[in-house]
Amino acid sequence: MRSSDRNARILILGAGPGGLSAAHYLRRYGYKNVTVFEKLGRVGGLCRSVTEDNQAFDLGAAVVSPDYREVLKMARRTGARLEKVFGAAAFSLKKGEIGEPYHRLLDYLAGGSSWAEYLRYLLLCLQYIWKRFLLREVFRRPGWAGIASHPELCVTFSEWLKNNRLEELGRLFEMPITTFGYGNLDEIPAPYALRYMSPMTLVAVLLSGIKFSRFLPGVLLVRRFKDGFQRFWEKVAWDLNVRLNVEVKAIKRSDEGITVTYTHPVQIIGDQLAHAEDKTRFDYLIVAFPVLKENLEKTMDLTEEEAWLQSRTEFIPYAVASFEIADLVLKERVAFHLPLPPLGEPMIVSQPHPDNELMAFYARLPSTEPTPDDERRLREHIERYVKAFGGRIKTDDDWHSYDAWLYFKHVSVEEFRAGYYDRWENIQGDNRTFYVGGLFDFDYVEGIARYSRSLIEKHFVEGD
Ligand SMILES: Cc1cc2nc3c(=O)[nH]c(=O)nc-3n(C[C@H](O)[C@H](O)[C@H](O)COP(=O)(O)OP(=O)(O)OC[C@H]3O[C@@H](n4cnc5c(N)ncnc54)[C@H](O)[C@@H]3O)c2cc1C
Repeated sequence: MRSSDRNARILILGAGPGGLSAAHYLRRYGYKNVTVFEKLGRVGGLCRSVTEDNQAFDLGAAVVSPDYREVLKMARRTGARLEKVFGAAAFSLKKGEIGEPYHRLLDYLAGGSSWAEYLRYLLLCLQYIWKRFLLREVFRRPGWAGIASHPELCVTFSEWLKNNRLEELGRLFEMPITTFGYGNLDEIPAPYALRYMSPMTLVAVLLSGIKFSRFLPGVLLVRRFKDGFQRFWEKVAWDLNVRLNVEVKAIKRSDEGITVTYTHPVQIIGDQLAHAEDKTRFDYLIVAFPVLKENLEKTMDLTEEEAWLQSRTEFIPYAVASFEIADLVLKERVAFHLPLPPLGEPMIVSQPHPDNELMAFYARLPSTEPTPDDERRLREHIERYVKAFGGRIKTDDDWHSYDAWLYFKHVSVEEFRAGYYDRWENIQGDNRTFYVGGLFDFDYVEGIARYSRSLIEKHFVEGD
């Protein structure tokens, strides 16, 4: 059985962006026997959306930039509609403060309010764009094979900015990086930040922050899926073989294939029951979820190398809570708490539809693993914020959500330098097993889709 055999039985674990994009490309290259097992009752992973009063809300991944070429291609194929995202506000508040919390975002970013300061800031942005453009060959290929041979890049992003005399742009990058859950600039390795902040994405971020950008064409701006990011993945999943609510119990790998023991639900009249265990043989396995070594070890016989590589990964605990808020319309659809608040407090407040009371609050949690106490404390901060904005949480109303994730699976700069990613690339395919997802490129949807595509092309299609 060769991996280029279009009848190979391939199992993908996880129906998030990593798993669904891998299944999508396998299907496009003619593979007929691809099955996706998803633990939850929905697809999309961290792309989670809800509909409230006939309007779609994203409570996980929310936006795409013009540089999301693979995602935009999939959107065209599936007919998923996009709309522009424009305008951003900045606010800050002190304990107990009530009143007008907004301040001017541009003045905060430029470090002043004169034209000279604005011009200096613009020139710094152009310098970044030029320096990043010069690195295009390093970032052209998805994934990180060979990155250790660029020691000047294997530093934290704040160090890279300093080495390139761009540290004053730190305030700007804190918005798409730190507030979006990717850590402080002195934590995140520069390769991740540089890949994510491509010239095209930075231009879109800058333009979308300006109010008049509503008059610019959508292809220049940050956009969102009109029906929600999760719905986009649901459309991608329509013509894929996705099985929901499947719990994998054991994975046995050998030269002959992969034997998977699992349970899946059946419905008997009105009740959903866990089916008795089933066992199925596959030819290849693609692991497509941000796995914790301890969890994977329970089901799969990891090799020493796999276990070691998994054990080096780190996460950032991040939460999104949503409430219906009365008597409040945000000045812009998204407002950033700048300068950044202490850990555990919301860094972003968003109200995607000004005529809808539903608002989402995004916070990095202070504990290394999310705890129930984090939720209580986050709610107290949200109450304080809402009061400062002059609104009120509608505790008696229909919708409220809280999701906490171990987000942004990544490794340290030391691992980048030591060739961590080359070791991963060396074992892709061993024991008929492949890995995709945020760790292997950067934890954003486009990087994940691009990595899935390149893995399928390298290990499956090129074997033709
Ligand atoms: C609040 C927030 C905002 C974000 N905003 C953006 C954004 O605007 N733009 C952007 O590009 N990215 C954004 N992201 C990042 C993006 O959502 C992630 O990069 C992406 O979802 C990761 O995809 P994945 O497939 O690797 O993992 P996941 O999305 O975590 O999907 C993994 C899937 O595997 C399933 N699974 C887990 N264990 C098993 C198992 N044992 N068996 C079967 N299935 C299993 C999970 O239930 C899940 O469905 C955001 C993330 C968060 C948290």
